[in-house]
Amino acid sequence: MQLTPLTMLANILNALLVADSFWNAGLRGFLVPWTACVMVVALFGARVWFVMRTRRRRHTASLRALRRAAIHASILGTLWALVPVVLFPIANSQQQLMITAISAGMICAGGFALATIPAAAAAYVLILSAGSAYPLLSTSDPVLANVGWLLYIYAIIVVASVIATARTFGARLMAESRAEHQTQVIGLLLRDFEENASDVLWEIDRQGSLLHVSPRLAQMLDKSLDDLAGTIFVDHLRNPAADWGEAERDCLRELESRIGGNEPFRDLTIPILVAAERRWWSLSAKPLTDPDGQFSGWRGVATDVTHARRAHERITHLAHHDTLTGVANRHQFHTLVRSALLAVADNASSCAVACIDLDNFKDVNDSLGHQAGDSLLQIVAQRLSAGTRRNDLVARLGGDEFGLLLREPGNNSELEGFVARLLEQLQRPCELYGSRTSVGASVGIALAPRDGTDATTLLRNADIALYAAKAKGRGSFCFFDPAMALGSQRRQMLERELQRAMDEGGLSLFYQPQIVLATGAVWRFEALLRWKHPLHGNIPPAEFIPIAESSGLIVRLGEWVMQKACQDAAGWPDSIGIAVNLSPAQIVGRDLCRMVDAALTESGLPTSRLEVEITESVFLNETGETLGQLHSLHRTGVKLALDDFGTGYASLAYLRRLPFDTLKIDRSFVHEMLESTEARAIVRSVVDLAATLKIATVAEGVETRKHIDALTAEGCTLGQGNHLGEPMPAANVLGFLERLAHAAAPAG
Ligand code: C2E
Ligand code: MG
Ligand code: MG
Repeated sequence: MQLTPLTMLANILNALLVADSFWNAGLRGFLVPWTACVMVVALFGARVWFVMRTRRRRHTASLRALRRAAIHASILGTLWALVPVVLFPIANSQQQLMITAISAGMICAGGFALATIPAAAAAYVLILSAGSAYPLLSTSDPVLANVGWLLYIYAIIVVASVIATARTFGARLMAESRAEHQTQVIGLLLRDFEENASDVLWEIDRQGSLLHVSPRLAQMLDKSLDDLAGTIFVDHLRNPAADWGEAERDCLRELESRIGGNEPFRDLTIPILVAAERRWWSLSAKPLTDPDGQFSGWRGVATDVTHARRAHERITHLAHHDTLTGVANRHQFHTLVRSALLAVADNASSCAVACIDLDNFKDVNDSLGHQAGDSLLQIVAQRLSAGTRRNDLVARLGGDEFGLLLREPGNNSELEGFVARLLEQLQRPCELYGSRTSVGASVGIALAPRDGTDATTLLRNADIALYAAKAKGRGSFCFFDPAMALGSQRRQMLERELQRAMDEGGLSLFYQPQIVLATGAVWRFEALLRWKHPLHGNIPPAEFIPIAESSGLIVRLGEWVMQKACQDAAGWPDSIGIAVNLSPAQIVGRDLCRMVDAALTESGLPTSRLEVEITESVFLNETGETLGQLHSLHRTGVKLALDDFGTGYASLAYLRRLPFDTLKIDRSFVHEMLESTEARAIVRSVVDLAATLKIATVAEGVETRKHIDALTAEGCTLGQGNHLGEPMPAANVLGFLERLAHAAAPAG
């Protein structure tokens, strides 16, 4: 179409030239209508071009249009073929030359001009060459005949070239059309991608400067398009905040090394500070090369993954931290202890774990409620975190148990000092829902590698040390000692077995008489628990009572002892009392009076015949409540005895704090009396003081006649011991009393 005006102009000019050349040779009857026809056809073609020119550019051609073009070309071809057919026979040799030149030129030019419409070109070329060759072949001149054949060969070559050109042209057109379509689709997709996805495209040149910055990228970086144009992309990412840790800086280093090393990367997550807020981007990119294979920059995608990252961080935090206190949880503690132990092995260093158990958490929970209990746990977690170093780890292992991982524990005395200070800080009183409470704790410590090289062993050993610390008394700490481990296994076994013994009646009470030294009469019996294990034999109360105390079994056990003792004693003569041992754990947080009253009512034993024995340990961790309960119990008429006096602090001041009726001097004093005058003096002053306070004294561990004599000499009137009467089963008590009466009768 584009060539139409030119080719039509050529047609008109050629036609005029031919008319002019042959005007004088006659045949004007042919020349005039022929020239007119050529002009009409040429003008028609030019008109079609003119009309089409103003219309929208078309990318397709209809079959009809192609057919019309072919017809148009055939008409032109025929018109030009008439020139040699009609004029050649009458032409002189110059005119023949001209006809040959015009025919050859029209064949070639027309063929090329129509090359994009092969049908039109072929029709035109073949008709014109056939017309041109005809007069040549019909002369008798062999040279002219050869020229005719030459024309045919031309025609064939021109048609073949036209077809080949048309094919290439068609293929190019198709390819262009496809490429254009693809460009449109890609453009559409990219726009859609930039507008809707959370991803943004970025491209940088060889120097790292941003190319074609999209509005979304500017928005993601909180910058204007102008601010970004031509700036170095990585500079916008390389703005770490002061509080970023090594992990964050590592991400940036990784990005820089990938870009520096021309390595493509995928989903590389990096932190980025945008408008003073830490966000996370995921970057994927690959290096670009120009057509010569030279590195020309980078193209990639950036996605803001902050939301996903935060959700992930939150989930990780929840999985590794205790929700109530915010410190690490047991799982995290184990994990970090494990990695600390790896570091210990690698660096030949050491670390320590501490298990911390609150002493009176249950009381707080019971008396002030669970909310107060929760607050207390939070306070403890805060105090532990405040009291430890940044490098250390505080964890809540469950309930009221906390764990510490000390990565640089220092030497033993430093560690001891640290734990003592920590306990002191923990014990500071705190306000809980209006009441002032103080919380004590016991701590067990195990050191790596000495006490264990794997987390399980180390933590178990710290736990064993914690048990030992608890046994020592509240507010104390213990380092693990291998001897404890053996004990702890037996301890676990005993705890299980004790529970079973309680359920299956494997426990019994023995009674040991307390005797009036002057007369040998029974004053009262002390109830002593006995446990005969079917496999392990007799297990001494000194071993299983502490286990019952720490496991809480003592409450049920103590209640049973109280009931059984009262029941047995109710069957004895009225004058004989019964002494029952009471653990501090039985007093705290329980309704002691109700428990005792129930036992008395059920057995029918008069209150005045019952005495409870408590040890000095009651005073060590006493809360006002403990003493209050004992006071109340005493007011109901139950007597109070201070047991084992002299084993603890042996402070006579304790005697003033509770209205004791009896003081039991520990057997260690009694035994020493025989050798040491000092011990004797102590016993004497204790007895004297007790007498002034109207408190009876019972000497324990009377094993020989000599003990009786010495005690009597120092003013002690009552005694208990194997020499006076060994602990006996309930069934033997009446027989014992009878024998005693018999023995006393003759003398009396
Ligand atoms: P305790 O209350 O001081 O009991 C006296 C202990 O001295 C008893 O030990 C008794 O068997 C022992 N004993 C008696 N006479 C002699 C003697 O002449 N020489 C020596 N060396 N020992 C003598 P047992 O029965 O082994 O009880 C030990 C401790 O266990 C008791 O000391 C008491 O604190 C505790 N216990 C026993 N039964 C109970 C109980 O039912 N409840 C509670 N909470 N504690 C109990
Ligand atoms: Mg006792
Ligand atoms: Mg005792």
